Amino acid sequence: MYELIVVGGGPAGISAAAMALNQRIETLIIAEQWGGQTTYEMQIEDGESRECISGETLLENFRRQLDYLDFVHHFDRVVRVTPEENRFVVDTVSGDRFIGQTLIMATGAKPERLDVPGARRLEGRGLSHSATTHAGLFLGKDVAVVGNGRRAQWATASLARKAHRVHLLAPEPLVPTPLAEKLRRMEKLDLVEGATVTEVLGEQFVSGLVARMPDGAEREIPVKGIFVKLARVPNCDLVRDWVDCDSRGHIIIDQYNETSWPGLFAAGDVTLVSEQVLVHVGDGIRAALTAYHHLLMQ
Ligand SMILES: Cc1cc2nc3c(=O)[nH]c(=O)nc-3n(C[C@H](O)[C@H](O)[C@H](O)COP(=O)(O)OP(=O)(O)OC[C@H]3O[C@@H](n4cnc5c(N)ncnc54)[C@H](O)[C@@H]3O)c2cc1C
Repeated sequence: MYELIVVGGGPAGISAAAMALNQRIETLIIAEQWGGQTTYEMQIEDGESRECISGETLLENFRRQLDYLDFVHHFDRVVRVTPEENRFVVDTVSGDRFIGQTLIMATGAKPERLDVPGARRLEGRGLSHSATTHAGLFLGKDVAVVGNGRRAQWATASLARKAHRVHLLAPEPLVPTPLAEKLRRMEKLDLVEGATVTEVLGEQFVSGLVARMPDGAEREIPVKGIFVKLARVPNCDLVRDWVDCDSRGHIIIDQYNETSWPGLFAAGDVTLVSEQVLVHVGDGIRAALTAYHHLLMQ
C-alpha cells in the first residue's frame, strides 16, 4: 500500500508527486504520459523577441526527479477509483491494482479544439488557447476570439486592452454574465453571435479566418491571432459519483485542496480551469502538503 497515489502527469500531478517525495511520503504517480496539456509553444510573425518559458521547460526539473526514481511512476490509464475505509483502490486499464491511503486527483481537463482546416497546423503560430499567456504578444494587432462562455469573454476583455481590434465569434449567444454586457458596449469589439469558424488561414503564421455568419454568408476576416476559448471539460469521471463536483464537473475543493471525501485531494484543471501552468504547479504542491498533514494525523 502507498501512502499517496497521484493520478495525472500534468503540472499539478508532477509537482504534487515531487513535493510528496521530498517529504519522504511513499508515493506512486499514475499517468498516461508526462506533460498533460503543456506541450505547446507560441511563435508569431514579426513578434518581438523575448524569452518565453515553456510549460515543459518549467516542469523539467520536477519530472527529472520522478524519472530518476523509476519505482514512483507508472504509465497507465486509471479506469476506476473505489473509496474504502481509510484507503482508495485504484484499477488501471492494463489490469493493475494499487492501493493508497490518500489520493490526489490531478487529471486535468479535455479542451475542445477548433476542428477546421488550418487550425492544427497553425497552433502555436498565431493560434493560441491562452489569452493570459499570449495576449501581450498581439499589441496593436487584430485578433479573434472563438467561444461564447466566461473564458471567451474574459479573454476578449483582456485582448481589448492590448489589441487593435477584437472579433468575438461566438458559436452560440454569449452566456449571460456582467462582463457580456460590458463587451456589447465596447467600441473596439466586433461581436457576432451565431458565427461558425470554418477555416484558419495562413501559410507559416495565422493571417486570418473564414467564418459562416448567422445569415449563412461566409466572411473572411484578416487577423494575426486567434484565441480558441471553447469548452474545457474536467476529467472528473473517476470520482464524480461519490465526491462533490460543481455543475460543470469541476471537483469542489477548499483552500487546502481538500475534497468532500476525507483523504481525497484534488489540484489543477480538474478543479478550476485557470489555464496557467504556474498556478497548477502551486496547486499540486499545496495538495501534496495537505495530504501529508492528513497522513500525519492518522
Ligand atoms: C492547447 C493548449 C494551450 C495552452 N496554452 C497555455 C499557455 O500558453 N500557458 C499556460 O500557462 N497554460 C496553457 N494551457 C493550459 C495548461 O496547459 C493547463 O492549464 C495545465 O496543463 C493544467 O494542468 P493539470 O496538471 O491540471 O492537467 P493536465 O495538464 O490536463 O494533465 C492531466 C494529466 O492527467 C492524466 N490523466 C487524465 N486522466 C487520467 C486517467 N484516467 N488515468 C491516468 N492519467 C490520466 C493526463 O494524461 C495528463 O497527464 C494550454 C492548454 C492547452 C490545451
